[in-house]
Amino acid sequence: MIADAARSLAGGATSNWQIAQPQAVWMSHGQGSHVFDVDGNEYVDMHGGYGAAIAGHGHPAIVEAVSRQVARGTHFAQPTEDAIWVAEELKRRFGLPLWRFANSGTEATMDAIHLMRALTERDLVIKVEGCYHGHHDSVQVSVLPEPEDVGPADAPHNVPGNSGIPGAIMDLIVVVPFNDLGAVERALATHRGRIAGMILEPIMMNAGIIPPEDGYLAGLKELLHAEGAYLTFDEVKTGFTTGPAGATGRYGVTPDIVCLAKALGGGISVAAIGGIEEVMSAIADGRYEQVGTFNGNPLAMAATRANLTHVINSAGYARLDALATLAKKGFERHIAAAGLPWRVVSVGAKGCVAFTGSPVRNYRDFLEVDDRWGNLHWLLQHNGGVFLPPWGKVEQWLLSVQHTDADVELLIANFGKLTEVAGHH
Ligand code: PMP
Repeated sequence: MIADAARSLAGGATSNWQIAQPQAVWMSHGQGSHVFDVDGNEYVDMHGGYGAAIAGHGHPAIVEAVSRQVARGTHFAQPTEDAIWVAEELKRRFGLPLWRFANSGTEATMDAIHLMRALTERDLVIKVEGCYHGHHDSVQVSVLPEPEDVGPADAPHNVPGNSGIPGAIMDLIVVVPFNDLGAVERALATHRGRIAGMILEPIMMNAGIIPPEDGYLAGLKELLHAEGAYLTFDEVKTGFTTGPAGATGRYGVTPDIVCLAKALGGGISVAAIGGIEEVMSAIADGRYEQVGTFNGNPLAMAATRANLTHVINSAGYARLDALATLAKKGFERHIAAAGLPWRVVSVGAKGCVAFTGSPVRNYRDFLEVDDRWGNLHWLLQHNGGVFLPPWGKVEQWLLSVQHTDADVELLIANFGKLTEVAGHH
């Protein structure tokens, strides 16, 4: 399969990040909380399709909604009624009045940045070191830079996150450390009148899990607004995995723009962008054309409506919280028994281990974390029947509403093999 694939698929997979070393895992199908690879191996799926599969696989409500819509037409490039229902529900959850749809997190953050620039007629955007916002030019800056590239902690270098990113575009991004209001204040003062806005993951989730400190998010909003600039929360990862209204709901700070994707669509690709009236009026009056052939397509809207109604509802979150508590306690038990300084960071359905005894409050602290334990953890889980996302210290597990207590117990037991090794180290 792998040799065959490389003859027609570049690199032998359909995304570079499907190739975890030593090779891509080729899937056959999923069922409930489990996935099955083409060699017949069965895993508890806590990779969750990079954080999308909060419904698990083949959830009856999603199957029903998608099947019904497939039979009635999957694409018209005209709006259907479900889009209003979904927008109303997102409005209720996130407290932002107006919404649009797209197909990926990348598109959502691209629209957000275009909007901030269009409204202010300014070009510069503040971005946090180590935050990932997709693969368009403006955000492919200082995503996961290597230690040798990063520069001084309080004035990080702009490091390209990919090839093909023009220097002229990189120069329009001002990189700051997470959890540091002073750095944003300085950036705004240095570039007075030139900053369109700031984009960040309100809980960093592409560098393990790093929560915002008290007052950080509210402080950002205040600083940016004082300079006539906008604040965007990229909640592509945190949106529904950390609670019904993501970090926005959890921390009670409503930004000017929210970007959603991943777990929004119950496993179907969809993204949403919500904003305050002032921002979204630019779309409404045509100053900014938010467009896309498949935007708000009926299949995605039907799946999203079913997901919001039947999966990520209050019963769903109660179940996810119970599973998360079970996982956290189990991990903590093993960590304590082995006398390790590690911490479990668990936020809603997302969790990971910080393989360190030191505080991790920004990307620089995260760089200090030894990634060998994370990689070994991935391997032990994989061989023990639990499929986790690759890059052990970077990514998190995702619990779904279909996981069982036994699934979580297996995750915990496999982790115990790691703490046993590490405890003797
Ligand atoms: N923003 C964040 C916070 C993400 O984690 C990701 C994907 N990992 C994206 C945006 C991009 O989303 P997509 O891959 O759907 O383009």
